[in-house]
Amino acid sequence: MRRFPGHLVFLVLVAIVTLPAFLWAQGQAQKGQAQRTLDIYFIDTEGGQATLFVTPSGESMLVDTGFAGNQGMPDATATNSSGAPITRDADRISAVFKQAGVTVLDWMVISHYHGDHVGNAAELANRIPVRHFVDHGPYSVELQPNRSAAFLAYMAVRDKGRAIVAKPGDKIPVAGLDVQVVSAAGELIKVPMQVAPGQAAPGAGLPNPLCRDAKLKEQDPTPENFESVGIVVRYGGFRLLDLGDLTWNQEHALACPNNLLGTFDAFHTTRHGDPHSGAPQLMHAIRARVAVMNNGERKGGDPAYWQTVHEAPGLVDFWQLHRSATGGADHNSPEQFLANLSEIDHGHNLKMSVRADGSFSMNNERNGFMREYPARTKSAVSSSRQ
Ligand SMILES: [Zn+2]
Repeated sequence: MRRFPGHLVFLVLVAIVTLPAFLWAQGQAQKGQAQRTLDIYFIDTEGGQATLFVTPSGESMLVDTGFAGNQGMPDATATNSSGAPITRDADRISAVFKQAGVTVLDWMVISHYHGDHVGNAAELANRIPVRHFVDHGPYSVELQPNRSAAFLAYMAVRDKGRAIVAKPGDKIPVAGLDVQVVSAAGELIKVPMQVAPGQAAPGAGLPNPLCRDAKLKEQDPTPENFESVGIVVRYGGFRLLDLGDLTWNQEHALACPNNLLGTFDAFHTTRHGDPHSGAPQLMHAIRARVAVMNNGERKGGDPAYWQTVHEAPGLVDFWQLHRSATGGADHNSPEQFLANLSEIDHGHNLKMSVRADGSFSMNNERNGFMREYPARTKSAVSSSRQ
């Protein structure tokens, strides 16, 4: 029998032993090359909310989970061709997990327990491991039978990971990001935000002249919105504000008499652009360069809300997940800024990629339209403090 030369056998053995380590190292290098940005996916959930943050090191945070089933569409109880329930938003979110390379979700933040936010929390937790859940606490102030299903399903999975009850002033310790809670369970921060001990966030703590003529509104009749976990996400020089479905008078309290939140690069609209929210004394004080509205074709996207954002000082572009039917010709952004245009156009997302210097890009995944936003210069930051 012919024998293989000894040195060949040795080389083959070395290759077998070292190949997995080599492939792993190559994979890590590719991962590092592929993404050096904080990527934020604003996922279309037809007027619900689901926003995925993925840091350059791959840590992931999903804020809200969209609607269960086919809710938010006229045929809310529709089934698929084989008669099974539709899992529209869960499927869309899962597709974005795949796109972003997320196989374990590090943080699932549930702003509050309305079905357009907590809708797929349980469904997603059954599809992918979730390491931490963050919410306003294990109770809901509304338990109408038609609204409790998604909440109760979430309660059943919540303890599969580590459950954390958010309190205003807390940090959510997402590696590589500074995530601060500014509202939860009806409570709000009481002192100006800081980026480091003794160092105020840009514009935070200054008297707000818009409070002079500020109006308050009748309290929202759906108190679960009032409980929303609101967060500020900071990555290097970039700041984003997401207040969930917080209401007008709470927005007022965060902005008056002093602007406790400061100024921002990006603002995710409160309550899908519904007129129960959208206090100009907040929205005009935060000087966001980019706003993103999580509206549906027929949910949110209120003309008065749209106008307030459109007129906000410092705003460069206003992106929307849908063209708003009630907005008409005068209260919608130009088409290239809209992720979905009509009743038959659904499931296109917006993607923001943020660099540590505070510059970022926005990409409309429907048509590939892209915009670049440079880092704020120091003088721009200080002039925003005036
Ligand atoms: Zn909502």
